[in-house]
Formats: sequence, structure tokens, C-alpha cells
Amino acid sequence: MSRHYHIVTFGCQMNRADSERMAGVLDDLGWQAVADENQADLILYNTCTIRDNAEQKVYSYLGRQAKRKHQNPGLTLVVAGCVAQQEGERLLRRVPELDVVMGPQYANRLADLLAQVEQGQQVVATEAIDILEDITKPRRDSRVSAWVNVIYGCNEHCTYCVVPQVRGKEQSRQPEAIKQEIISLAEQGYKEITLLGQNIDAYGRDLGTRPDGRYRMTLTDLLYHIHDVGGIERIRFVTSHPRYFTERLIQACAALPQVCEHFHIPFQSGDNGILRAMQRGYTREKYSQIISKIRHYLPDAAISADAIVGFPGETEAQFTQTLDLVAEIGFDQLNTAAYSPRPGTPAAKWDNQIPDEVKQDRLQRLNHLVAQVAAQRSQRYQGRVEEILIEGVNPKDPTQGMGRTRTNRLTFVAGETQVGRLVPVAITEVRAFSLTGMPVTSLSGAGQVG
Ligand code: SF4
Repeated sequence: MSRHYHIVTFGCQMNRADSERMAGVLDDLGWQAVADENQADLILYNTCTIRDNAEQKVYSYLGRQAKRKHQNPGLTLVVAGCVAQQEGERLLRRVPELDVVMGPQYANRLADLLAQVEQGQQVVATEAIDILEDITKPRRDSRVSAWVNVIYGCNEHCTYCVVPQVRGKEQSRQPEAIKQEIISLAEQGYKEITLLGQNIDAYGRDLGTRPDGRYRMTLTDLLYHIHDVGGIERIRFVTSHPRYFTERLIQACAALPQVCEHFHIPFQSGDNGILRAMQRGYTREKYSQIISKIRHYLPDAAISADAIVGFPGETEAQFTQTLDLVAEIGFDQLNTAAYSPRPGTPAAKWDNQIPDEVKQDRLQRLNHLVAQVAAQRSQRYQGRVEEILIEGVNPKDPTQGMGRTRTNRLTFVAGETQVGRLVPVAITEVRAFSLTGMPVTSLSGAGQVG
């Protein structure tokens, strides 16, 4: 018997794109979308905090479904998005019938979270900080794109972050084991891989040194080692740390055709005082230099990042530095979060915490700017032909395939739904965080007969 899901999406385009991805995950798991939420076995509210009434609406919807759950204990209730991110466990206390509370960055991991629910757990996945840094499981929701862990753990001491305590010391996998995994993924038909590490630039530091004292293996060396596995068309890597990011790595990205022109390099704050308090180990100026270097070698590269607002002690002037940096760099995408104290981290104990309403106000202002900047960045795609790797079908329009540019922009492709195909696509519509286009062949073939 098939199971049915219903997704209710509040807020911005980013939320809508996330909902589409989560619907894709559910489709892959064999669920079927249903229009009436009262017929659904799983209801997912993808929430937004930009407007208070959106938040209030979520609570009223949830209240109704929580009651339904008393009659139908098999009903699964999920709250995703920004309210989930902010409220975390508080949501569970308010609505104990909930099964999953998940921040926006967990959209790709919905399958894993639901597997935990099936084992009887109530899941809170809102680790606000390590947006891409905490993804350590293979991405099972795709037959095209796979995650490959290359280094586990983290030796840094960012004062807000719990990862080093929970994930332990850095441990790099051997390059040969990584290559074998990639060969096996290629044999299974995967076209794209994303190398993963919480601080991926640390790769190889624990694999020994050469007689001249240099590391035997670095992330750059690894890219050269694995780039030519037949069948793998695209290689990505996350998450980069500005402290360790090298020019040699950028040169490798420019030299190796499979490595995509997209860099995810969290800056966290645009203010040097806050960066020092976070113990990030770099300055804003160093960050800007890295981006200039990337643009020197790869002028069209997309840049994304993570940022935190309302870190303890952050003044309005310091927050403005973050806004400045976002405008200066021109990010294609930015994952933003209001600081939330994680138990056991140094910053959680400081007495200069920022009131919630100030954090929320800053988060909204930053998100507003991010959407503006992303919309500007998207303009460059208008009328261009981009190579899209089709990863699935648009759940809202089955005549459209959906995939990504090499620069990681979500793209809907009219009339091309064959998953796994790399298609040249003429971009006809641009939005802040997604594009729409049609295959070039169908453009040039328009009007031809036979
Ligand atoms: S680099 Fe910092 S933020 Fe990233 S996982 Fe390590 S301690 Fe956490």
C-alpha cells in the first residue's frame, strides 16, 4: 500500500526550492504526493520566520494535525525550515506529537531523518552552524550524485561549534580507498561526486610528511589523484576553511575539467573582532583575497558560504560589517543562521549573549540582502547556455527535469526528464536561487520535421 505525503511551504524561493528537493527525496523513497493534507501519512511544514503570521500559521496547522495524530498514530509530522532551525527542541516541547524538527540545511538528509523516525526516535536536526559540514552519510536520494567522505572529524576550536567534541580528531581516508569508492560509484552510474569533510582543507595532514617536511597528501593532490575516473563528469568538495584554502587548490580547480566552478567557503562574520572571538583564525581581508584569487583564475565561479548573526557581543556596527562583506563579495548563495548556543561550547557560557529579537532582526536583514545579491548574480545566466546534469523531475511539473549548473544553481529544464543526462540548456528565466531553461537541441530543432 502506498504512503502519501503532503508538503506545506511558507516563505521564500529558497524554501520552495528546499521543498522541491524534499519532495524528490520522498518520491525516491516511494511516497506519493497528495493534495489533501488530511489524506496524508506524512505532513511536512517547511516554515519561514520572516513574517510572524507565517510562524503563527504553522502553529495553528500543527495543532490541528497533532490532534489528528491522536486518532492516527502512524501519521508522521515534520517541521522543516527556519522556524524549525530557530525553535529546535522548544518546538518539541510545544508540540510533543512532532516526529522531526529539521533546519533548512538538512533538506538533503530527510531520508536519513525518516529512517531514524522509523526506528522510533524523535529527531531534532538543527545544528545551526555546520550547515554542510555535518553531512557524513552517503546521499541516497540521488542516483546521479553521491557524497564521498574523505576526512572525518575536526581539529579546529571554533568557539561556537560542537563538532570537534562529537566527531573527534581529523582522520583522513587513504587516497586509494577514496578512488576505489569513486570507481565503484561510476560503475553504478553516478555522474557527480562531492568530496566531504568538516574542514576538507585539512585532508592529508594526518597521512604523514615527505622527507622535505611537506605533507605527503593534500586536498589538491587528492583532486589530481581522483579526477580522471571514467564516467564521473563532475567533482565538487565541501567544506572549505578560509584559514587553509590555498592558491594551489584554485589552480587545480582551474586545470581539472571535472572539478566544478563552485566554492563553498564559510566566512561566518565580516568583522575581525567577531572572527577573533569565534577563533576562526583568519581576517576579513584574507577572506576577500581568497575570493579575488578564485575570480582571477575562474572569473565565473560561484561562491557560497555560511554566516552567523548575533554571535555573543556582536554590535550593530559589527553586524554591518557582515552586510558589507556580503555586498562586496556578491555571493551566489549564503546559508545564514542566528547564533544559538550549543551546550559544551565556550561561547555558550559567555554573558554577552544577544537578545533573540536582535538576532532575528539581523537575520532578516541579512537574508533580505542575500536574496537581492543572489538575484543579481543570477542575472548573468540569462540567455546563456549552461550544462545541466539532470538529477530528477520537478515534483511540481513532471514535464520538467531538474538539475544543477556546474556552478550549483538549481535549474528546471523543460521537456528533459532523463535522470543522469548532461544537457546543454538555454536559460530563459532567472530567479534568485534557481533558473529555468530548455535544452539547446529542442531550441535548434524547433520547427524541424522528421
Ligand atoms: S572548522 Fe570550526 S565550525 Fe567547522 S567543524 Fe571545525 S570547529 Fe566546527
